[in-house]
Amino acid sequence: MTFDELNLAPAIVEAVREQGYETPTPIQAQAIPLVLAGHDLLAGAQTGTGKTAAFTLPLLQRLSQDEGNGGKKKVRALVLTPTRELAAQVEESVRTYGKNLKLSSAVIFGGVGMNPQIDRLRHGVDILVATPGRLLDLQQQGHLDLSAVQVLILDEADRMLDMGFIHDVKKILALVPKEKQSLLFSATFSDEIRELANGLLRNPQSVQV
Ligand code: AMP
Repeated sequence: MTFDELNLAPAIVEAVREQGYETPTPIQAQAIPLVLAGHDLLAGAQTGTGKTAAFTLPLLQRLSQDEGNGGKKKVRALVLTPTRELAAQVEESVRTYGKNLKLSSAVIFGGVGMNPQIDRLRHGVDILVATPGRLLDLQQQGHLDLSAVQVLILDEADRMLDMGFIHDVKKILALVPKEKQSLLFSATFSDEIRELANGLLRNPQSVQV
């Protein structure tokens, strides 16, 4: 299996090659076709498996094909992560793999000043990577419009629950459109994760590495 066989746009494959990746990892080979086909996804994958590219590459492909919504850009994809470190890493990956595309991204997390994040949001963002608490703060203060989200990704959902973010995550789920593609990545599957997945995912495909 090669990246070309995954039907990703040449601009994306080129960025991946520049990272020195030669072949997709198992989670990438399984997940990318399903996400490109528009399915919701329940993915069991540990960190280190290449899970970030498994959701980022098809996300970039999907958003780069859409026309966007003109005028001031609303957030079209939202990635939730449990920690600021992971949020920063994921957004870095979005930038790296999307370097040949005209999509914009931003990262939002707590523990730092809000004003730079508010300024960044004001300029319009296609792909927003965020930790749940700060995202809700900014939304509640009127700085964030989630009404145009087409793709929602929960990364390391088990850690998100372990860290006590379940209520924040549920509030965020209520702020995004019902009609969307949702992907849930988790290393482990407790009853609580399954309940979250059942509430969020519609006819999901499952992959496990
Ligand atoms: P992740 O599991 O997303 O944290 O990725 C783990 C590491 O694997 C990161 O350093 C990636 O840059 C790297 N990686 C992701 N996909 C591939 C690939 N197809 N070939 C080689 N390295 C990869």
